[in-house]
Amino acid sequence: MIIQLEPNITIDQKEKLIEQLEVIRYQSSEVVTQYGHYLIGIGKQPFDIRSIGNLPGIRDIHRVSDNYKLVSSKWKVKETRIDLGDGVEIGQGKLALMAGPCSIESEEQIASTIKHLQENNVRIMRGGVYKPRSSPYSFRGLGIEGLKMWYEQTRPAGIKIITEVMMTEQIDAMIDYVDVFQVGARNAQNFNLLDALGGVDKPVLLKRGISGTVEELLQVAEYIFSNGNERIMLCERGIRTYESVYRNTMDLNAVAMLKEKTHLPVIADPSHGIGVRRFVDKIALASVMAGADGVIVEVHQQPEKAFSDGQQTLSFQEAKRLYSRLRQTFELRESFQ
Ligand code: PEP
Ligand code: MN
Repeated sequence: MIIQLEPNITIDQKEKLIEQLEVIRYQSSEVVTQYGHYLIGIGKQPFDIRSIGNLPGIRDIHRVSDNYKLVSSKWKVKETRIDLGDGVEIGQGKLALMAGPCSIESEEQIASTIKHLQENNVRIMRGGVYKPRSSPYSFRGLGIEGLKMWYEQTRPAGIKIITEVMMTEQIDAMIDYVDVFQVGARNAQNFNLLDALGGVDKPVLLKRGISGTVEELLQVAEYIFSNGNERIMLCERGIRTYESVYRNTMDLNAVAMLKEKTHLPVIADPSHGIGVRRFVDKIALASVMAGADGVIVEVHQQPEKAFSDGQQTLSFQEAKRLYSRLRQTFELRESFQ
């Protein structure tokens, strides 16, 4: 169960509540976030909800049978909207577009990408400065200096930055230059990193683990939420299956299901999802029809020269056509509801 507490609940009232939970054999954990104060009750015994709900200091009480609680749509029916400032919002009936290279490479590359994004009214730029690579000999990113260089150019342009943080130790140095922290698929079980991101006041985009289940993705989000950060979005980026003709298997079922199971925005990453440039547009459009609140795609001024993931990266021309089709598809989907 989730018990929403009044902000001014007294220590005495809280103790009485916890005692009452012990009586019905519920174990309780307190959660304080940037927006709310909750007590999470975990237990199985049936109980009369009024015996708890009528106690002083309680704003509301909800039964949530899912293993994850705070990220569940069972208690928060209204979808979450994440506001990045300057009119850039994600979720709740808007389509968020995020685009940029796999890796940040140079000042010139940043400038040409920003120009491309501005021409197409895309307000969020992706790019990696710390890259998890399968081979240690591949390009690993420009690091914090690359992030600063990127920030210098995006700020005046009104473009927001989403980039991957790989280690807890990187958070402090990155935080002033980042609008959304991305947790990569390979870090989906890095619980220290997830705990730490619970303590920051910046939104987090959580990628689904390479072999992670939908339920595990939701539990990972619960880690961040229960550590204090409610501004989370979930990202389907394909999973590993027995299929080998494409890089990953984009699980559009997960997009549709996540939209039902959670109030958090759901973003689709068709670039990593299929890993083959000529199919990225189709999978992106299908993700929107499946219910995605946004799409993140890899774009590059010369994909064949990209330092990483060129094989799945769209040219600016291809991306331009995709944004417009995504917007049209989104309108069509919304007209169905
Ligand atoms: C990326 O976004 O470039 C990336 C490495 O993604 P993932 O963690 O999904 O592989
Ligand atoms: Mn990539």
